[in-house]
Amino acid sequence: MSIASPLFNCRQATLLVERRADAPLPLPTRLQLWAHLRLCPHCRRYEAQSRFIARYALRAVAPAAVLPAAARERLRLLLGGLAGPPPLAAGGAPPQAD
Ligand SMILES: [Zn+2]
Repeated sequence: MSIASPLFNCRQATLLVERRADAPLPLPTRLQLWAHLRLCPHCRRYEAQSRFIARYALRAVAPAAVLPAAARERLRLLLGGLAGPPPLAAGGAPPQAD
């Protein structure tokens, strides 16, 4: 008979590091993961590298495409004015006129 450890093993901890990036973990799980990360330099390094990769992967994604003004106007006319105001360009600024 084995006694379950209150801390995760490294395989479980790294899996939870990835899951935590997508959705919040339950409080008991977060506490166990926090304790594991405090005690395990390997998983702390994994966590740091995972965050680094995620941050630079987001930067690598091309900004959202913005239609040229003439194309937006044609679509607006085709949709009978139901399209509403033009979308904001990447960064929240209104798109530049073409
Ligand atoms: Zn570990």
